[in-house]
Amino acid sequence: MADDRFHVYDTTLRDGAQQEGLNLTVADKLAIARHLDGLGVGFIEGGWPGANPKDTEFFRRAQTELDLKHAQLAAFGATRRAGVKAADDPLVAALRESGAPVVTLVAKSHDRHVQLALRTTLEENLAMIRDTVSHLHTEGQRVFLDAEHFFDGYKSNPAYALEVLRTAAEAGASVVALCDTNGGMLPDELAEVVQAAVGTSARIGIHCHDDTGCAVANSLAAVRAGATHVQGCANGYGERSGNANLFTVVANLQLKRGFELVPRESLADMTRIAHAITEVTNVTPNSHAPYVGVSAFAHKAGLHASAIKVDPNLYQHIDPAEVGNDMRMLVSDMAGRASVELKGRELGYELAADTSRELVTRVKEMESKGYTFEAADASFELLLRDTVAGERRRHFQVESWRVIVERTRGGEVVSEATVKLHAKGERIVATGEGNGPVNALDRAVRQGLERLYPELAGVELIDFKVRILEGTHGTDAVTRVLITSSDAAGEWSTVGVDENIIEASWQALEQAVTYGLLRAGHTG
Ligand SMILES: [Zn+2]
Repeated sequence: MADDRFHVYDTTLRDGAQQEGLNLTVADKLAIARHLDGLGVGFIEGGWPGANPKDTEFFRRAQTELDLKHAQLAAFGATRRAGVKAADDPLVAALRESGAPVVTLVAKSHDRHVQLALRTTLEENLAMIRDTVSHLHTEGQRVFLDAEHFFDGYKSNPAYALEVLRTAAEAGASVVALCDTNGGMLPDELAEVVQAAVGTSARIGIHCHDDTGCAVANSLAAVRAGATHVQGCANGYGERSGNANLFTVVANLQLKRGFELVPRESLADMTRIAHAITEVTNVTPNSHAPYVGVSAFAHKAGLHASAIKVDPNLYQHIDPAEVGNDMRMLVSDMAGRASVELKGRELGYELAADTSRELVTRVKEMESKGYTFEAADASFELLLRDTVAGERRRHFQVESWRVIVERTRGGEVVSEATVKLHAKGERIVATGEGNGPVNALDRAVRQGLERLYPELAGVELIDFKVRILEGTHGTDAVTRVLITSSDAAGEWSTVGVDENIIEASWQALEQAVTYGLLRAGHTG
């Protein structure tokens, strides 16, 4: 189990799941819990059993299906209703019977919320907290309290807000988490309130929302002010602007402040875990996310490239390997020889001076025509291999291709492609149908080559982006097509440019297939 001196408390499955467009099944929740446990968080808040049937099922299945190595499960719920005993409240019973070793109770700490939302007296609210905490504590669960709207409540009535914390602690709560529920706080004022709360009661926790863009900064400020329990969500999921990004918080505390929150080797797996969770949530990963984003350590070198070559640490705030990320060089039209050599080295080639000079010339010439290699690593590597070898050896030669797009009498639009190829000494004629011309070409190529290269069955076209580039110096506009493909081991992107969108797509497609074959071990 994780160390109890400092709590890393994840609420992705409860608060994070409030994110617009996010809809998790019980199986999704179990999968995310396994990933979070793999990272080494101390607590995973699973949801609200009793109030939500899916969450009740989650806790039931968790008992047999989750084998947690680090984390403890926390069930979330409210204090008892006004005017009944905690022991008699069915929602409290659901928390007691959830099987979770920890219960996190949400309670009002803002006097006006007690009166207007809960519609009860300030005294009864304190009695509800005292009774519910002590009941669950006596029954053998560890109880944490989420003090809702704490910061706004402290501004409205500081004595009452602190009384809520004291009451919970005296009744047996081992953590009181101060919640910036509306997310409106800034780090300096938040730290002052946390300081006022430290020492009045149990261990102080912090729960921040990102409405001011300060959720992570606020969490760090709270820790500096004495909080030893920090809540957040994977990838910053959450309603409105999201919750504090737990990955950023953990990386900051561990790498910049010397806390030992998760095992070193788990931190080095954080980038993979962050992306694995996006596979479950089906939310596109933020490529600019701190630490774990694909672009977090990507340099558009130009001017800096020669210095990066000498000492990469001059241009990055940590070694990306500590969080399982990689430094990447982006090859752009600002590229000079040094960045091309660096990129070559990243791909495993030591380039001779004249080869890299020639490569820079070719990159610049192609970029002036509209190609971009920044987002098309695979096209760059093919170009590099061509330059190194003089001429690319091809897995297949293209004799011709043709696409027909037809709107049928029934109103359906169908595309049909024919490709004529030469591969391994054979002439191949293949056709393919698809929902669009590129899809039809893709199918025709596979149809033609799969018998000779069965690995192509595992290659998939997963994204297709088109951009019209304005013509310059009296030339016509051209179309740039970026294609992303994947196989079991990863993804790659290729680029094509032409005045004709289908020719541009064909170029990107031909390279995508070629690169897929290289990855499968066919050196061409
Ligand atoms: Zn919240």
